[in-house]
Amino acid sequence: MRRKLVAGNWKMNGGLAFNAALLAEIKAGLKQVDCDVALCAPAPYLAQCQSELAGTPIGWGGQDLSAHAAGAYTGEVAASMLQDFSCQYVIVGHSERRAYHAESNELVAQKALRALQTGLTPIVCVGETLAEREAGRTDEVVGQQLDAVLQLLDGAELAKIVVAYEPVWAIGTGKTATPQMAQDVHAALRAKLSAKNAGAANVVKILYGGSMKPDNAGELLAMPDIDGGLIGGAALKAADFLAIIAAA
Ligand code: 13P
Repeated sequence: MRRKLVAGNWKMNGGLAFNAALLAEIKAGLKQVDCDVALCAPAPYLAQCQSELAGTPIGWGGQDLSAHAAGAYTGEVAASMLQDFSCQYVIVGHSERRAYHAESNELVAQKALRALQTGLTPIVCVGETLAEREAGRTDEVVGQQLDAVLQLLDGAELAKIVVAYEPVWAIGTGKTATPQMAQDVHAALRAKLSAKNAGAANVVKILYGGSMKPDNAGELLAMPDIDGGLIGGAALKAADFLAIIAAA
């Protein structure tokens, strides 16, 4: 039985005062927690997350990292820097990074490897665009995105990743994949993991992301291969985020 993970992705939102209020409300409202919980914050706020969340059941992480260890890469954040602020997680290959920063499948895989080598859990995002889904290419596209990672990692490393299926057309749009649509893709992803390493495939959490909200979280999270959620907009509202945690 895989323990569920509910991870918030704040994206480029927040500020010191907003975060302080949000974190206080989440901490106050967090009762019994039967799943793993994490927040992925903009890099400048990781120190704030560390001081506010240390000792709570909530973990934290970054939203991206460099594939390089250190050096002349202006503007980039190294895995070791995330580690300095006790991050456990880092998102890699979010569709917004792939679309706006031209991140290739290969670069995303290198970032996942860098994260693992530094003791961070990469949350590897995959997902198809609306055009790709309508052309019947969903499994092919997410399969290629995952393949690049499978090629770079051995079985032991693979067992330590988290995968997030985020259909691009469902992100921030209010359109959600139906539980069955999501389950079908999650099952295909797990079959691909299994072909590489069956043991790893059993333990790897596959999260769903894309307009997950309190009113649809329960039915999505009830599907056998949906092991949690990667939450955008609803993670910025304490009541919504808490309700999704309660549904997990
Ligand atoms: P929304 O929940 O706002 O659709 O965002 C999903 C997402 O991209 C999380 O990484």
